[in-house]
This record gives sequence, C-alpha cells and structure tokens, in this order.
Amino acid sequence: MPDQPYLFVSQHPAVLHKLAILRDERTDSKKFRELVREISWLLGYEALADTPLNEIEVQTPLEVTSGHQLAERIGLVPILRAGIGMVDAFLELFPESQVWHLGLFRDERTLRPVEYYNKLPDQTTVDTCLILDPMLATGGSATAAIEVLKDWGAEHIKMVNLIAAPEGVAAVHEAHPDVAIYCAALDRQLNDKGYIQPGLGDAGDRQFGTGF
Ligand code: URA
Repeated sequence: MPDQPYLFVSQHPAVLHKLAILRDERTDSKKFRELVREISWLLGYEALADTPLNEIEVQTPLEVTSGHQLAERIGLVPILRAGIGMVDAFLELFPESQVWHLGLFRDERTLRPVEYYNKLPDQTTVDTCLILDPMLATGGSATAAIEVLKDWGAEHIKMVNLIAAPEGVAAVHEAHPDVAIYCAALDRQLNDKGYIQPGLGDAGDRQFGTGF
C-alpha cells in the first residue's frame, strides 16, 4: 500500500505517440482496439513492476540456477464494457491472472454508477486486483468497483486507465488513498456530460464501432 495517494502518468515516448493516434477522431475501430491493447501492455509493465516474487530453483540443460516466480495471485477486473479491450495485454504479461468482469454503467442523469454484472465468488481468490478501465472520468465507477473488491477481500488494488481526469483522480484518492492509479495521460477536465476533455470520446463506442 502506498504511503500517500500515488498517481503514475507515463512519459514513455511509445505511450505518448500511440496516445495521440488513439485520441485522433479519424482513427478507426480496428486501429483503436490495437492501440488500446498496445498502450495497456506498456502501462501494465509499469503497474506490475513491484509485484512480489518468490525465489525458485530452475534446472537448465546445463545446471541448476536460481529464478523467480510470482508470489501473488493477480486478478484482472475489466469494467464492462470498455475495459475488455485492455485484458489481453495484461494476460500476455501475466498469463495466469484470473479475469473477473464487473459490469457498471453510468446513469446518464445522475452520472452515478449502477452495478449490473458481478460474478465474484464469496471468498476472494486473488491477492492483487488491477481494475482496467480506459477512462477515469468522475471516479464514480472506479470508487464503486474498489468498494466491491475491498468487500470481497482483495488486499492490494490498483487502477489502470488510459486517460484520467483530475476529478476522477481526486475522487479515488480521497475515498481510497491506498489505491495507486496508473495512466497514460492526465487530461484537463470533465465536461458537463461527464466526458473527459480533450479525451478521446466514448472509449466503448470507439472500440466496438457503436458510436452513432
Ligand atoms: N467514458 C468514456 O468513454 N469517455 C469519457 O470521456 C468519459 C467516460
């Protein structure tokens, strides 16, 4: 658990280059999905850098040497539906991760999250949870998801977002100062419809070609 609220904003040139293409309104859904996956991989690399390890022995064809094995069970928690596009990148990094989908949608009138899908078993089955959601906007869904996972018994929780709004970061940090946030960009503000500006529009619609 971080000593104080922790926000990591990637400055990696590969992330920044890909992010500009992701934001571009001319980027089609196929390219958009590829970019979501690629940026997620780069953010996952950072977000998982402090994952605890156990030392193990490995028999190479020549001799026994020391190696490492993950000491924690990782749970990936994509927020439906836009978080789905981030999962494969994390599974490439940590193939043994469990994937627990959480369905939260935003009530367009109140901008409050409403839970509609949650199949978590009674007892927690992971040590660290990574909440995957491309956009950290008001922080309503994020704080709701964190509460669900804490109630479930998850000990360590991190958020991974492609773009975060200052309002969302403040909401998560205030309610859950132990939850670190990893993102590719911290944008300027939310508009009155709860969209991040400059943002990239609706991350779900842009991935799945449903923005009519
Ligand atoms: N969700 C999105 O998909 N985009 C935003 O800008 C805010 C929330």
